[in-house]
Amino acid sequence: MEKVLLSGNEAVARGAYEADVKVAAAYPGTPSTEIMENIAQYGDIYKEWSVNEKVALEVAAGASMAGARALCAMKHVGLNVAADPLFSMSYIGATGGFVVITADDPGMHSSQNEQDNRHYARAAKIPCLEPSDSQESKDFVIEALDISENFDTPVLMRMTTRVCHSKTAVIIGDKKKHENKVYVKDIKKRIIVPTHARVRHAFVEERTEKLIEFAGKSKLNRKPVKKSDFLVIASGISYFYAREAFPEMDFMKIGMSWPLNLDVIKEVTKKYKKVYVVEENDPFIENELKTAGIKVIGKDVFPMVDELDQEKLQKALKKEKTLKVPVQGLPPRPPALCPGCPHTGVFYAISKLKLPATGDIGCYTLGAFPPLNALDTTVCMGASISNAHGMEKSETVELSKKTVAVIGDSTFFHSGMTGLANMVYNKSRGIVVILDNSTTAMTGHQGHPGTGKTLNYGDHVKIDIEKTVIGLGVKDIHKVDPHDIPAVLNAFEKSLSHDGVSVIIATRPCIFLVPKRSYGKIYIVNHDECVGCRICVGLGCPAISFRENKSNINPMFCAGCGLCASLCPKKAIKINEGVENGQE
Ligand code: SF4
Ligand code: SF4
Repeated sequence: MEKVLLSGNEAVARGAYEADVKVAAAYPGTPSTEIMENIAQYGDIYKEWSVNEKVALEVAAGASMAGARALCAMKHVGLNVAADPLFSMSYIGATGGFVVITADDPGMHSSQNEQDNRHYARAAKIPCLEPSDSQESKDFVIEALDISENFDTPVLMRMTTRVCHSKTAVIIGDKKKHENKVYVKDIKKRIIVPTHARVRHAFVEERTEKLIEFAGKSKLNRKPVKKSDFLVIASGISYFYAREAFPEMDFMKIGMSWPLNLDVIKEVTKKYKKVYVVEENDPFIENELKTAGIKVIGKDVFPMVDELDQEKLQKALKKEKTLKVPVQGLPPRPPALCPGCPHTGVFYAISKLKLPATGDIGCYTLGAFPPLNALDTTVCMGASISNAHGMEKSETVELSKKTVAVIGDSTFFHSGMTGLANMVYNKSRGIVVILDNSTTAMTGHQGHPGTGKTLNYGDHVKIDIEKTVIGLGVKDIHKVDPHDIPAVLNAFEKSLSHDGVSVIIATRPCIFLVPKRSYGKIYIVNHDECVGCRICVGLGCPAISFRENKSNINPMFCAGCGLCASLCPKKAIKINEGVENGQE
């Protein structure tokens, strides 16, 4: 047996391979993205970047219904998008093993909230497994597929950022061939109309009872050997934090956090003077135990906000009152778009025209920060367009006349198209700007339907954004290069006077897709000509700074896009002849 160092995400992919998963689908989202990227190395698994998480879950569900083992993966907020089919699949169950990976993000390293997706398992009445390290990430995928088939249920596996991205040793095994289940048409199981669903609901309740019994015996939940007066009950990465923080205490490790076998836990806790529950984010296990009358201490002392670590746990027990996590003394460093980012020109125009703008999920959310200050809202994938429409319908005069929605190309395919159809259908008069940088940039440059690149087949049909927009009924369309600021301003002016929905498609590839990540040159400021007007500073390019009333360009950061030069009224910014961009 070979031992290798794997991240949790790599280990999930390995688990899927060893358990003979046949179909895997995902939409990229930090911290889950690398699961599918690693599954891609296993040639005999069908894998795809689906257009969004709902589609990914439905693809995996279809494979499971057909009798094959299936996996889908997404970040925590992705499960909000996929919740609709998840709840139906709880009733339908699983034929081939069906595991849904949710990668939660305590601490919000790259997310808009800290939601704890264990609640989905409880609400959908399906089991939830929580691995603590990479070995468990691999083993739990295999276990989840077995549970799924044995109990006729989808299984949710909750990872968190630290488990996804930390590397620990994993014993890898060979693939165990798993025969697909024979497909048998069964409409009472798979067509969830009320008459069938009522029967299936009773099945789901019985299944939960059986799962509780299983939880009491399963090796996923490890009981302690009594050595201390204090017990810690912990799951996921919190188990390791707590072990390091309180090595003198006893531990009950919860690997399956839903459903819990409360009778077994009650028996264990009876032997201890004090019982602590350590878990990241919500008091999920704690509340279950307290409701069952088990006396435990949890969020009374441990923080509810942010990631946990050993220090926070130790501090909490010393004070026994730490509900707010103090911000550490780091100097503030505002996030910014990359030097040469193609979105900069659009945000500069929005800022200059002082238009209210609803934003969306992607790296372009950074356009909200100074000096661009170009966005007013960001809610969730696809919301920019529907939010702008709602603002327009609010009849708040300023907003209703000029609202702009800003959405990336990948997000447009993910869930922007429906919002745009809704705007057209409901006679809106807003402007939608599709920031087409030809990739899913924020998660590491994955393909999407507009790129013509698939995970499985390489080059394939490229869905044309303009034709899609025309197909959705938009009549007023402007195509611009976001680095051509006069053209961008002109497109906005025309759109503002159009009585209806306008779409501006601003196309230029992400700076990281441009060969050598640069335009092959860098710019410099001639201080004799610079009058210190600060117009170039307004772009928010990290390469530009302002000192002693003059602008300066840091050659290490300049990507050579030329945007600042095009704006300088004194033509003080010039190509630094003979100097090539040296970022790579
Ligand atoms: S826009 Fe030109 S003149 Fe104004 S600060 Fe920048 S470099 Fe100087
Ligand atoms: S050319 Fe100007 S705007 Fe473009 S990366 Fe260099 S400094 Fe920034």
